[in-house]
Amino acid sequence: MAQIRIPLSSPDITEADIEAVVSVLRTTQLSLGPKMEAFEHALAAYVGATHAVAVNSGTSGLHLCVRSLGIGEGDEVIVPSFTFIAAANVIRMERATPVFVDIDPITLNLDPTKVEAAITSRTRALMIVHTFGRPAEMTQLLAIAKRHNLRVIEDACEAIGAEYHEQKAGLLGDTGVFAFYPNKQMTTGEGGMIVTGNGELAATARSLRNQGRRRTGDWLEHAELGFNYRLSEMNCALGLQQLRRIESMLARRAEVASWYDQRLRKNASLVLPALDMADCRISWFVYVVLLAPQFSREDRDAIVRQLGSEGIACGRYFAPIHLQPAYRNAAVPVNSLEVTEFAGERCIALPFFNRIAPAEVEEVCARLEAAILQRLARLR
Ligand SMILES: *Cc1c(COP(=O)(O)O)cnc(C)c1O
Repeated sequence: MAQIRIPLSSPDITEADIEAVVSVLRTTQLSLGPKMEAFEHALAAYVGATHAVAVNSGTSGLHLCVRSLGIGEGDEVIVPSFTFIAAANVIRMERATPVFVDIDPITLNLDPTKVEAAITSRTRALMIVHTFGRPAEMTQLLAIAKRHNLRVIEDACEAIGAEYHEQKAGLLGDTGVFAFYPNKQMTTGEGGMIVTGNGELAATARSLRNQGRRRTGDWLEHAELGFNYRLSEMNCALGLQQLRRIESMLARRAEVASWYDQRLRKNASLVLPALDMADCRISWFVYVVLLAPQFSREDRDAIVRQLGSEGIACGRYFAPIHLQPAYRNAAVPVNSLEVTEFAGERCIALPFFNRIAPAEVEEVCARLEAAILQRLARLR
């Protein structure tokens, strides 16, 4: 593998961010302190949530949502397969069953017209993912949830700041989760945040993240079986700093997306993500293009390999969950997952981060187009 010159993603860390983290280390409170409280308050204010609970990863947050909603053995939860594996794993961690439903070919989000066919008497919830920061079809999905008395968990791990009909992603269902891994729009190194309007759910999640302790109880009194999903003060200090810049970071990412769009728009071998969605605000997590239908998975893999050998890192977002070794014998996909598999074979995530330079975007596009032409020559 050649040395990577243009990475797939890169965190945006300033000297002020570094100073904020270091200054925590000069105190004696490194966990469960004022930074966590401040970070929770700031994030709740940003999205307009009544409750926010910081956790040590997006996965932990989703897990606590499943547990706090009382979902367990014998229950089914509807989830897309074209997403990050954690969304389905947390369902299995509670011995419930993920039921995969296909996606819309344009938005790559859960296809609402295919959800109802997958609902059974065991279905308890919808795990709705705002894939790549593009809001899912919430009006239709929430109507289905209401009709069948299902809870709604929003996996907003890729969608901080995204809006659906002027409401922030994460607040549209019973509970939502954001994630702050270094490749996300904002980072805490590792980290996540649960948001909800349900005080009881927030209290349960708060307790479960800290070994099942109740706030009023003695430190060694554990009311229920919990976890250590706490987020340290250093992480929270970084999160506070990043959150201050979230709007400028999201604006910058939208700008980078528009550079790619402008440069690649005329290429008939590519299907680009729409720059706008009606009544929505996209929070750009990654920039993912699809190869046109005449290309195969082998073509895609060869193109990604070629770019890698030229020092450009591309991703294959997403590899469908139901095709992963850990899932082949475990899950019960009800519907066909045709669109999921089609997209999974042809998707390419291009280098995408706040500080990518226009010249780097130009180089990525030029080399991508050259690699596509090579494959086209073989197809003919
Ligand atoms: C990033 C992400 C998560 C959570 O990831 P962590 O690494 O645990 O923070 C969950 N779901 C989706 C769709 C994600 O992209």
